[in-house]
Amino acid sequence: KFITLEGGEGSGKSTAIESIKQWLDDHSIPYLMTREPGGTPLAEDIRNLILQTREESVSDMTELLLVFAARAQHIAEKIQPALQQGVWVISDRFLDSSYVYQGNARGGSFAIIDQLAEWVVSDCQPDATLLLDVSVEVGQQRVVQRQQQDRLDKESFSFHEKVRQGFLQRAVAEPNRVSIIDASQDIESVKRQIQAQLDRLQLN
Ligand code: C5P
Repeated sequence: KFITLEGGEGSGKSTAIESIKQWLDDHSIPYLMTREPGGTPLAEDIRNLILQTREESVSDMTELLLVFAARAQHIAEKIQPALQQGVWVISDRFLDSSYVYQGNARGGSFAIIDQLAEWVVSDCQPDATLLLDVSVEVGQQRVVQRQQQDRLDKESFSFHEKVRQGFLQRAVAEPNRVSIIDASQDIESVKRQIQAQLDRLQLN
């Protein structure tokens, strides 16, 4: 199975990953944990480029193409081979983040993203996506508490609101694939919600 985890800043993806790992270990399921942008040496280099060049002037189209270039390498080198061996692949972010960050938040063309997805992702689509949803206010409070403000947190409130709404729209459009996890709850509750979704997925 191929599972992706999505969510905005401060939604608790790192904690969610720990819950997912625990569930997989409890069920003795072989898995590969990975992330985007990144996941392979070349794709991680592209990730660093994207995060660094944002300080300078990078055109939205360049950023979009870099994200998909990293994804092409990630799929070919890591995701596909693992899935072919029957290993579950869990990716911290995947295609939904491109629609939401490069599309909804930065105003990129969904038609172009659709085409890139067709070329690059093709049938390597996630079986399930867990969307950690939290209000922008709560997400930002968490980031401030962790004192992990990086450049991306200099994005405006409206940017983060577009990210949140973009993810929710995708969940509404594809309810069978995307499960919304209420990430405003405490850690134990979020963990239960995630593990309930994984139980459901294992039965399918
Ligand atoms: O998952 P993580 O929060 O570490 O991702 C790093 C940053 O990369 C995110 O804050 C997000 O804003 C950005 N990103 C992006 N476009 C993507 C994926 C991630 O702008 N397609």
